[in-house]
Amino acid sequence: MNIGTTYGGVAFRDVLHARWAFVFDMVGIDWSYAIVAPSWLAPGVPTFHMPTRHLYFRSEPGYDSRAIRAWKAFADAFDAQCEANADAEDEPEDEPLIDPYLSMADHPDSRLLICLGGIPDPTNFDQYGPVGGEDQWLLLSPNGGQDCPYYWTRCDTCGFVDAEFTGRAARLDCGHGEGDKDYNAASPVLLAAYAMARRTLPAKWGRKKCPSCTLPVAPNELIAPDERTWQHARCAFAAEAARRIADSASAHL
Ligand SMILES: [Zn+2]
Ligand SMILES: [Zn+2]
Repeated sequence: MNIGTTYGGVAFRDVLHARWAFVFDMVGIDWSYAIVAPSWLAPGVPTFHMPTRHLYFRSEPGYDSRAIRAWKAFADAFDAQCEANADAEDEPEDEPLIDPYLSMADHPDSRLLICLGGIPDPTNFDQYGPVGGEDQWLLLSPNGGQDCPYYWTRCDTCGFVDAEFTGRAARLDCGHGEGDKDYNAASPVLLAAYAMARRTLPAKWGRKKCPSCTLPVAPNELIAPDERTWQHARCAFAAEAARRIADSASAHL
């Protein structure tokens, strides 16, 4: 039985999803995760929801035609919801929308991205994305649009991260890029997050104490192990963030 992995107090279907959540924390993307999709969606579509990026994200360890079919069904249901919302626009609002999926369907720029290939290998990456093209990232936007490949990319001016076609940072919503390209899928911040995420694991059993926060480590909790200690992955993330702030402070002296 797959009992899943916990990270940041959230139970994930498997370690791959927990590792992605760790990456998103590392690069500053806020996320929520749903194993059970709302009733208007195809059943069994666990997904990340990133409201500030207008993005749904699903990840599979490799090419999986069943997962792609399920994701396409998700895209169709999403399109139908967008249309229904558009039709209902003139109606008086009776209840506030509390379902995050429904609030996403209100946004015309919402995107649905499925990643086939796990956490990227940072040793096999250039500014356009993974070298060799083994990973496939297919974007299914509302209204049946398809585009491929998409990768996480980062604005080096402000640090904003989002998924863009072939990692074109100039397309990021922060608007700092010039022109249309600025390929930056291999930003050192992204590659460091991938490298750290690939080292994280679910704890095989519980431990009394994490060396950073001194709280217990629960079985199946995501940890960033080294030779001697089992540190919570979230504590490793906090330590890394503190290191980065210290580095940038000393760089400005
Ligand atoms: Zn920017
Ligand atoms: Zn800890």
